[in-house]
Amino acid sequence: MILINDFKSEPADLRQAMLDAMKRVLDSGWYILGKEVEAFEREWAEACSTSHTVGVGNGLDAIEISLRTLGNGPGDEVITTPITAIATVLAIVRAGATPVLADVDESAALLSLDSVARCVTTKTRAVIPVHLYGQVRGAAELQRFCSSHKLELVEDCAQAHLAEEAGEVAGSFSRIAAYSFYPTKNLGALGDAGAIVTAETSLAKRASRIRNYGQSVRYVHPELGVNSRLDELQAAILRARLKWLPEFTARRRRIARRYFDELSNPLITLLSEPLEPSSHVYHLFVIRCARREALQRHLEVQAIQSLVHYPIPVHHQEPFRQIARDPKGLRT
Ligand SMILES: *Cc1c(COP(=O)(O)O)cnc(C)c1O
Repeated sequence: MILINDFKSEPADLRQAMLDAMKRVLDSGWYILGKEVEAFEREWAEACSTSHTVGVGNGLDAIEISLRTLGNGPGDEVITTPITAIATVLAIVRAGATPVLADVDESAALLSLDSVARCVTTKTRAVIPVHLYGQVRGAAELQRFCSSHKLELVEDCAQAHLAEEAGEVAGSFSRIAAYSFYPTKNLGALGDAGAIVTAETSLAKRASRIRNYGQSVRYVHPELGVNSRLDELQAAILRARLKWLPEFTARRRRIARRYFDELSNPLITLLSEPLEPSSHVYHLFVIRCARREALQRHLEVQAIQSLVHYPIPVHHQEPFRQIARDPKGLRT
């Protein structure tokens, strides 16, 4: 069976590096917010060509803490996309803000700028684009739109580890951005993990406080926070896996190249090709198909696993049926 995520077939060297990493943590006798987290935070910031990483518990928390760090909360509207992991929208709700869904464009399934513009009200404070399936596209344009409308931009980079647009890495279009290291992401831990990246020291400081009960120095809590600390074990695993990320991304790109070159079936529509190879890291290769169920059955017979991403858009999920949206409506 060709699996979507086949962790058991990963290189033996990587497995050994992860075992060594676990032993290092066990031998250190220190398990939360220690040297491994600090080292990973440095290494990830460097990989993202930015100054700071704040390791957190997961991607959902990374988005919530990013919004709270910027001061977005009750009374504020935050625009995002309905074609995403529900976590993007839950994070807005958890920050106390009001989510508003803009539509996506047909060709790449990314936020449509026209739709975002229609969603802006006097209460709008931020826009969260999702670099869906691994594609960074139109981020610079959205950045210009946000700065001219005095809106914050918070990139959800959970699917786009180190994808670039015109030489800028995912996460560097916004003052603060969120990553997830859920096991199936391009860079994944052996459990839950996430990170916030920022070039601004003051934002990094505030985010590190919020992730740890709002604590500034030991037992002093100048503000309310949460418990969302990256642990040493996951940080050590992430450091081992980060060394393999460039090779894994290159392999994803080679496979995607073959799909673009060789898939030709009138029932299948591909999303648009990235404008430059570096702007897509192919977290997933998602296609549209006029006979989806039949195709899935066919693949299953060939022992190839497939999934629908996403079978139910956010606004069709029970808690979000009444969610605010583009006044023109959403396409699905
Ligand atoms: C996975 C994912 C998240 C949430 O990350 P978790 O670590 O699972 O909380 C958020 N947004 C997107 C686009 C994702 O793919």
